[in-house]
Amino acid sequence: MTQRIERLREKLKEKGLAAILIMQPENCRYLSGFTGTAGALLIDRQKCYLLTDFRYLEQAAAECPGWEVREIKESTFETVAGLLPPDNAGALACEGDYLTHRQFNDLRDKLSGIAELAPLNGLVEELRQVKEPAEIENLRRAAELADHAFWYILDFIRPGVREREVALELEFFLRRKGARKVPFDFIVASGPRGALPHGVASEKILQPGELVTIDYGAEYQGYYSDLTRTVSLGPPDPKQREIYTLVREAQAAGLKALRAGVKASDVDRAVREVIAAAGHQENFRHSTGHGVGLAVHEGPRLSKKDETVLQAGMVVTIEPGVYLPGWGGVRIEDMAVVEEHGCRLLTRAPKEELITCR
Ligand code: ZN
Ligand code: ZN
Repeated sequence: MTQRIERLREKLKEKGLAAILIMQPENCRYLSGFTGTAGALLIDRQKCYLLTDFRYLEQAAAECPGWEVREIKESTFETVAGLLPPDNAGALACEGDYLTHRQFNDLRDKLSGIAELAPLNGLVEELRQVKEPAEIENLRRAAELADHAFWYILDFIRPGVREREVALELEFFLRRKGARKVPFDFIVASGPRGALPHGVASEKILQPGELVTIDYGAEYQGYYSDLTRTVSLGPPDPKQREIYTLVREAQAAGLKALRAGVKASDVDRAVREVIAAAGHQENFRHSTGHGVGLAVHEGPRLSKKDETVLQAGMVVTIEPGVYLPGWGGVRIEDMAVVEEHGCRLLTRAPKEELITCR
């Protein structure tokens, strides 16, 4: 944690800022280790304050050694104003992309005569992109749990079951095995619904001969995993096989392109070229992947536009899909750690062949 604060202070110094107020929950957790849901961090050149209300005082003191824990009595911003020295030597940075307009105005009013406000975007998020070994280990554990759930759910997926039951069964399994939360509403999209890239589980009943795409994830120590597999209900027909093979090859191309020093957009292009060569560019419209960490969707984005140069230690998904309206779709998603000369998969659920459920 100390190193993270040092890196943040360096960035503030570069920008000529005296202090920063952090309120975004994952950013708070990343910098302080605090897992409570109500809190804010005020970091200046010398001190680190953790502000929280009476419910979390004990927890904050236990989780965040080295932080000066202060109780929020009136309001967070009142407390912040009280902690800034009157002769404050510069502007206070805040999370411009997190604070609401009302919060920003309120904070500015409270600080009038004390400090200027400097909204910044993505400062801590940028630090979070490159993971430390302990973070990668947490992500690996979250990925392992998702893999484990895949083997479990294969036995449950069969014609006659509702999509929502599959999603629920997955969630029960993951929580029983230790996940404290799940990252999003799970996607279970069967038959023609598979053409919806974001087909959250519905009341639809699975039918023989359909493909089923499941997209879900687990949690370990605050870190998430994100995994997608498409399976078939009964022996696949030639077209199902063909689209599945295409998506698998596109994903393989993405994993092959993934390494330190390449741009996020280059990995996206490697995937997109395979799909375009088969004439399906119009049927793959979302980006290729995203970073995963304390948030299930974080930077970098592996998209056409993201020029981020990938660094060793970034953890990203590669998740191409082909979606044919009226027919259905296939998506395959894995998480991988970017390394100097390649990448290392964190999710290991099988994908070489289209898996057939009863
Ligand atoms: Zn996913
Ligand atoms: Zn994803």
